[in-house]
Amino acid sequence: MKLTHHELRKHYGLLLGIELPWQVEEVDLDLAGKGVGIALAWSPGAKAKCPVCGRAGSLYDLAPERTWRHLDTMQFETIIRARVPRVECPTDGVKTLAVPWAEPQGRFSRLFERFAIDVLLCARSLKGAAALMGLSWDEVDHIVRRAVKRGLSRRQFEGLRHLGIDEKNFMAGQSYISVLTDLEGSRVLEVVEERTQAAAEVLWETLLLEQRQKIEAVAVDMWEPFMRAIQAKAPQAEIVHDKFHVAGRLNEAVDKVRRAEHKELMGVGDETLKGTRQLWLFNPLNFSAEQAASFATLRDSGLKVARAWAAKELFSKLWTYRYEGAARRFFRQWYGWVSRSRLKPLVKVAKMLKQHLENILTYLRHPITNAVTEGLNSKIQTIKSNARGFRSFENYRNRILFFCGKLDLYPL
Ligand SMILES: [Zn+2]
Repeated sequence: MKLTHHELRKHYGLLLGIELPWQVEEVDLDLAGKGVGIALAWSPGAKAKCPVCGRAGSLYDLAPERTWRHLDTMQFETIIRARVPRVECPTDGVKTLAVPWAEPQGRFSRLFERFAIDVLLCARSLKGAAALMGLSWDEVDHIVRRAVKRGLSRRQFEGLRHLGIDEKNFMAGQSYISVLTDLEGSRVLEVVEERTQAAAEVLWETLLLEQRQKIEAVAVDMWEPFMRAIQAKAPQAEIVHDKFHVAGRLNEAVDKVRRAEHKELMGVGDETLKGTRQLWLFNPLNFSAEQAASFATLRDSGLKVARAWAAKELFSKLWTYRYEGAARRFFRQWYGWVSRSRLKPLVKVAKMLKQHLENILTYLRHPITNAVTEGLNSKIQTIKSNARGFRSFENYRNRILFFCGKLDLYPL
């Protein structure tokens, strides 16, 4: 069925925002195939400018027909097609004109690309978005790549003061990636493979020297390679050991004490600690009434794990101090108490905390944490599980930046 009615052509011209010398030549409606084809044509005799230098050139020829997927018309897949003029310029030679409805080399109209980016951001999975829009995986991947490239080229680093560096598991096994985060902007700035000092230095090189010099503080775990990279690339920045990592280390120690003690007790047929693992790790504020009751008994039991737990809980008071002197005094007392406890896993962590104390107390001046990164973690996790069979790290990076980079992704 062919519609060449003047009004219909005008209507599509308005919908597309097409202006002379481009005009809608023809609109094909395929009712059975649920498709709309819009043929655009360059007005014969219209003047064309060289896309490189902007001077008037002469029409050389029309390039072979190309197609662009556009926004559906009433759920009919809509395809724009056109032969784009090539202009001959005395200086630049034969050049193809840029078209107003799409980006150079784009396979989609600008409006479609905008829509696809919105669908992707909602769907959180390339496969799901591809199915929704009737695109192939390669086509959505192409949209993601282009969007990230656009976003990175427009990115601003003004006012960047607090950063986070963190590691994440990548793929199965012992492979890691390192992530640089803008803590105030809640956005991922860069992702690299490995968690070495060299990798972390590459992260820093995302920023120019004068931008690095403005960084006041960086939240990190007590991981030496990251700390050395900070000293090498932004020596003025204060290192702030992330309090959630510290809590994580203390939790691990409590769990080790519990396991050893449970084994000991079971040896004499005592099941007191059976099934209590979660109770020692959870925040008591989130307990059910039943959990709270059984935990109250355990807590006052005088068991080793109960003492380890109390030491862990007490440590969190350190983050509430306003003055360094008072915080130091508190730490000395806490450390003395733990040292005398003879709870080996806990003593080990306490020694590590003592060794890193200066970079723990920086928290009082810069109360920053990697909680932002942890929040991004679940987002990154979703990306990972939605993308089994990642072809490469580069794909993964593109996806993290697309979903977590807060980039301006849209075509103009
Ligand atoms: Zn030219």
